[in-house]
Amino acid sequence: MADKKEAKGKVAVYKFYKVQGDKVTRAKRDCPRCGKGTFMAEHKDRLTCGKCGFTEFTHKEQAKKAKK
Ligand SMILES: [Zn+2]
Repeated sequence: MADKKEAKGKVAVYKFYKVQGDKVTRAKRDCPRCGKGTFMAEHKDRLTCGKCGFTEFTHKEQAKKAKK
């Protein structure tokens, strides 16, 4: 009785974008140190890598990308 329909075909679609007020920021980012595939943990105003401890402030990112 091996039921093989566990996590097959069901991908947990996470939020790729985060809406903060009227701003939309990317919630999913990968660590610049660890490289692609290592996603950083979301915090209120920053992202941290649980692997190497890298911290990136989203404020800074927004300011950098606020060229419209
Ligand atoms: Zn890292």
